[in-house]
Amino acid sequence: MVYLVRRTRVKMMHLFSTSILLLGLVAGAIASGSWTYTNLSAWNLLANTKCNGKIQSPIAIVDSEAQTNATLGTFTKNHFIPNPISNTVINNGHSLQVNVGGGYMINDRKLLPGVYWPAQFHFHWALQGSRSGGSEHTLNGKQYFAEMHIVHNNNNTKNNQLNEKNGIAVLGFFIQADAISNNTAFDKLLHLAKKVKYTGESAIVNTPLPVSDFLPKDLTMFYRYSGSLTTPLCNEVVVWSVFKTPISISNSQKQEWQSILYYNNTETGQQYLIGDNFRPTQNLNGRIVTKPGNKSPDFNQQSKIKFLLITMIPIATLLF
Ligand SMILES: [Zn+2]
Repeated sequence: MVYLVRRTRVKMMHLFSTSILLLGLVAGAIASGSWTYTNLSAWNLLANTKCNGKIQSPIAIVDSEAQTNATLGTFTKNHFIPNPISNTVINNGHSLQVNVGGGYMINDRKLLPGVYWPAQFHFHWALQGSRSGGSEHTLNGKQYFAEMHIVHNNNNTKNNQLNEKNGIAVLGFFIQADAISNNTAFDKLLHLAKKVKYTGESAIVNTPLPVSDFLPKDLTMFYRYSGSLTTPLCNEVVVWSVFKTPISISNSQKQEWQSILYYNNTETGQQYLIGDNFRPTQNLNGRIVTKPGNKSPDFNQQSKIKFLLITMIPIATLLF
């Protein structure tokens, strides 16, 4: 997860935009130092780093190992309404990020342990020609083309989200290129991305993007665990919800996406395409992943029917 806006001029523009953005950026500004996806071990050496902690993200999610939790609710698109009042799109050198001002709040204790408002969303994706995908989490061993992270701040943390348990809630969505026609929301996003091709560039979005337009149709199944930011300083303050159903975009959108955004390599002074901007999966270290639902994974509806048939047939035979 990219939480940080590195370039000062980008920060300055937005510090004065809205008070809501101000809160998000103050939280983001705590992270420090320059880092890359090509030298991950250096993350552990940064001042005040938590990247070598015990509850890090992302993780490899395995559906059959996730425990059912009947108290977990279900997200619906209504949770993402009203739409944001303002958006700013940013190339922060690590990702494409859209800052969110105003709009919905998630206030549902069956879903999240507090009131959360959206600060920004951003993406992790694979470079063209990469052998692997570009998502951060994996599901049942699969790494998807990309992953979207919608970052929410806990309203009760007095702008200290990066230091308090459950200070941040991230909703993660896998993205795959299997749609026949273009995804309209991503057409808009890619159009905006062309305005911020180089690191440090940002653009105000005239018509804010409804977050709900980006979501997959089915939000019912998700995986919940406690983890961290996936970029330095890897603060262990995140309540994660990673959704099972991926977002679908077209293959031409995927290829376009992979050729728009550049970062500046400070050592060579050259521009390179942003991509493969994912952190590898981290050890669970005993953490339990949960998912909504009532059924025990070993005793589902089909097993119940089989059990009834096996027990009832001999009884019926005895009776008649
Ligand atoms: Zn992210």
